[in-house]
Amino acid sequence: MSKTVFVSGSNGFIASHTVNLLLKEGYTVIGSVRSEAKGAAFKKILNTDKYSYVVIPNIADVGAFDEVLKSNPQITTFLHIASPFRFNIESPEKDILIPAIEGTKNVLTSIKNYAPQITRVVVTSSDCAARENDDPNPNVILDETVWSKATFESSKNHPVLAYLGSKPLAEKLAWDFVKNEKVNFKLTTVLPSYTFGPQIDDALVAPDLNSSSKVIEAIIQSNPESKLQNHIGSWIDVRDAAKAHLVAFQSEEAVGQRLILSSSRFTSQTITDVVIKDFPQFKGKIYEGVPGADVAETSQLATLNYSKTNKILGFKFIGIEETVVDSVKQLLRVRG
Ligand code: NDP
Repeated sequence: MSKTVFVSGSNGFIASHTVNLLLKEGYTVIGSVRSEAKGAAFKKILNTDKYSYVVIPNIADVGAFDEVLKSNPQITTFLHIASPFRFNIESPEKDILIPAIEGTKNVLTSIKNYAPQITRVVVTSSDCAARENDDPNPNVILDETVWSKATFESSKNHPVLAYLGSKPLAEKLAWDFVKNEKVNFKLTTVLPSYTFGPQIDDALVAPDLNSSSKVIEAIIQSNPESKLQNHIGSWIDVRDAAKAHLVAFQSEEAVGQRLILSSSRFTSQTITDVVIKDFPQFKGKIYEGVPGADVAETSQLATLNYSKTNKILGFKFIGIEETVVDSVKQLLRVRG
């Protein structure tokens, strides 16, 4: 019998790729979704009996995962990917910080109480949990030992700060949980950077895309006078992020590790330059910035040393051109 993996937020951008890959590798997947309609739509896309879903409207509800874990003793691996990552919200505290932190606590508590057979747990964090400040300068080395200093207090008054705080606070809770509680499972955290790439199916290109996919969409929807936000940092292809979630529970070397995913540095200009090169129809139509200006800008950022992660993962990351081309092709197919 194939192994059963639970994936929270299974229809999300990164999770849907992870579920897709798990199914391809022969696993059976039980995923949580927030509504019956979302579960049915996602199952239709996957088109397999090896995926089933459970409706959990809010991971912050105490005991949210109890029933599904009590009634599915065949689950041996839990990937906790769900976390709020939308900024059009009412309360940074109630809509982002609390679900991220309490959701993680609920997952781990349910596993401890009702699923002692689960041996591997993966919690999806973010590279923002492994930065002290905003990438201060090239003399600062960022590696898997670095922790954000964000606190609940410093994060609670702005949606973006709330997101940036929610990830380290939830991840820290997970590491403290395995240190302080008697649990049967081993923990690994995955810290993706800005995650780009196509959705697993054109039907998942929703009118309101997930936050990171909006970065590329905003560029191709811009005009020469647009005032676009300049995104700057590290990025990873969503297909590599999915692969990393599998290595995170399959590899013995990954036990107890933080896996930080970065293909390379980028700014919005990096993406724009690929769009103009590979889709000449956008020339003169979108905000083109200053071609090549990303090189000087990214050279001012902290130096990354994720060699430990890269050795554990053992695969080569997809490059920016392939990611942007695949994303833009899909957006053009769906949005026209
Ligand atoms: P998505 O918004 O596509 O996925 C998030 C998933 O979590 C969705 O299924 C969402 O459901 C669900 N979710 C959010 N809040 C709740 C809640 N309160 N209760 C129940 N379910 C909830 O985003 P991504 O795929 O991009 O993000 C997945 C994970 O990766 C998150 O942990 C995120 O922090 C992390 N990450 C993402 C990065 C990126 O650039 N994309 C970078 C670094 C980390 P619904 O959509 O129905 O609301």
